[in-house]
Amino acid sequence: MSSAVTQTVTNQIDAERLWSRLMDMAKVGATAAGGSNRQALSDDDADGRALFVEWATAAGCTIATDAVGNLFARRPGKDPDAAPLMMGSHLDTQPTGGRFDGVYGVLGGLEVIESLNDHGIETEVPVEVAVWTNEEGSRFARSMMGSGVWAGVMDLDEVRSITDVNGLTVGDELDRLDWAGDVPFAHPVSNYIELHIEQGPILENAGTEVGIVTGVQGLRWYTINLEGFPAHAGPTPMDLRKDPARALHEILAGVYAIADDHAPWARATAAMFRSDPVSPNTVPQSITFSLDLRHPDKAVLDEMDARMRALVAEAAGRHGCESSIGVDNDSPPINFAEACVSAVERSARSTNYSHERIVSGAGHDACYVAAVAPTSMIFIPCEDGLSHNEAESIEPDQAARGVEVLYGAALELAGGS
Ligand SMILES: [Zn+2]
Repeated sequence: MSSAVTQTVTNQIDAERLWSRLMDMAKVGATAAGGSNRQALSDDDADGRALFVEWATAAGCTIATDAVGNLFARRPGKDPDAAPLMMGSHLDTQPTGGRFDGVYGVLGGLEVIESLNDHGIETEVPVEVAVWTNEEGSRFARSMMGSGVWAGVMDLDEVRSITDVNGLTVGDELDRLDWAGDVPFAHPVSNYIELHIEQGPILENAGTEVGIVTGVQGLRWYTINLEGFPAHAGPTPMDLRKDPARALHEILAGVYAIADDHAPWARATAAMFRSDPVSPNTVPQSITFSLDLRHPDKAVLDEMDARMRALVAEAAGRHGCESSIGVDNDSPPINFAEACVSAVERSARSTNYSHERIVSGAGHDACYVAAVAPTSMIFIPCEDGLSHNEAESIEPDQAARGVEVLYGAALELAGGS
């Protein structure tokens, strides 16, 4: 991997330092295929944090943690008691994770602090970098766990009792690693900005350098069951069947039409098809499948929901079948605070990087932090939109652009001069 970095437009950060930190962190829990494996609350995760603490301490930050192990590195401001501007993300990875998911937001925040030091800037309010515990939810199956507990959305005791495949609990590991500290949950934060790779192809395909994230899509997961009547595939005439597969065929066509009607942001994904009995020459008695609908606007998601329900009932009825729809997950859209989004946008404009407003298709710690503090996110493109993959890749120039935009927004929101 080349470490050559061209000059950025504003050049307020040290792009070489940023890249070398990213590459050094990638050596902790490095995988043979070029990715990272630092699963939450493992020794590798702890080693990654220790490296971050070493850098942050050298940059003059004080380090503190809360009871779920979220770590906060703070650079003081003129008013040391003021609510800090917070940046951050996570250092834990998927078992076959990439080198940038989460890491980039944490080390980007650190680079902002080091650049403030380089320029001798004292901000009005403190500047803090958060390292959230267990964002990935792979070893301990609760994603965005640290930020969820911090924001009061999840219960600490409940989270401490979650086990991994070996029967170890989150609580066991927090105690073993001595991560639990005394920073109160939801401590006052003036604004939160999370810098992240996009993990999708939209910016890359558009040739846009920086994404100004306005919020996160809402999603609903359904289990849909269609009940027909089993019959012999040969002797039973087509018009005398109660065939759930024929209803399914119409439902799928209708569901994709709903998504097309609300392009470009609507998503519809049908999967996990199961028919019973499992036989090639019997009209199925029942078909069950999952449906995932997404949109950033709750009113549109409600409309998609209503159309889908009508579609299922009508298609099932037309073919003499019964239908039922269960809701397995209902996660409302998140709209980030406009003032915080605008600050990021002003910063992007001042750098002259091409930028556009974008909605996140994936969940992030910012989703929960947004319930406590004005929040926004900055995305940069990643190669082929690939993430949760050891081949996850960004270029040093791209990494620098996102941090330049973060630096400008942080300077405005923290009151730097
Ligand atoms: Zn992430």
